[in-house]
Amino acid sequence: MLNIVLFGPPGAGKGTQAIKLKEAYNLVHLSTGDLLRAEIKEETTLGMEAQAYMNKGELVPDEVVIGMIESQLNSNKSANGFIFDGFPRTTEQAEALDQLLSTHETAITKMLSLEVDDEELVARIVQRGKDSGREDDKNESVIFNRIITYNKKTSPLKVYYDEQSKYHIIDGVGSMEEVFDRLQKVING
Ligand code: AMP
Repeated sequence: MLNIVLFGPPGAGKGTQAIKLKEAYNLVHLSTGDLLRAEIKEETTLGMEAQAYMNKGELVPDEVVIGMIESQLNSNKSANGFIFDGFPRTTEQAEALDQLLSTHETAITKMLSLEVDDEELVARIVQRGKDSGREDDKNESVIFNRIITYNKKTSPLKVYYDEQSKYHIIDGVGSMEEVFDRLQKVING
């Protein structure tokens, strides 16, 4: 199985690249952000609870997102592999993912970290807020809080994957195709 963690701060281009990787390698795309937004749309209890965190740019509790990933892994048992997009975001999530994958007798193949500087990130998110209408992309203080949360809680995962020799830095600035080529080189290499 090919299991990729697509890593990076909000606005780095994870969602866009995940869709291209899913097609190129026939993978199942698991985005916890997309799964949570689907719950909000359906007005489920989980969705309503998650929305309060998302609106502030804070992380949804670990057990909620880990539970969602667990059920997705169980319902995609014949998958060729997975792209994890926006998950894991904390050490607890990364440890849980390793455990879940090991019960499915597989593991993370590589963690690809899209690197984009903060100024460019904010510009991209503001533009996405205009195009997609995502609520958390429209408010500047929420955008900053997401970036701060990334730096504080998520960025340390680079060390977690580096210790497993799975951490790869990808320059996330350039055209969609340029970034995609860089990702493919590392996956195939
Ligand atoms: P994203 O679409 O990945 O930018 O996620 C949007 C929001 O959903 C984040 O700002 C968090 O509030 C929440 N979220 C998504 N994935 C996770 C995760 N793995 N852990 C905690 N919260 C998450």
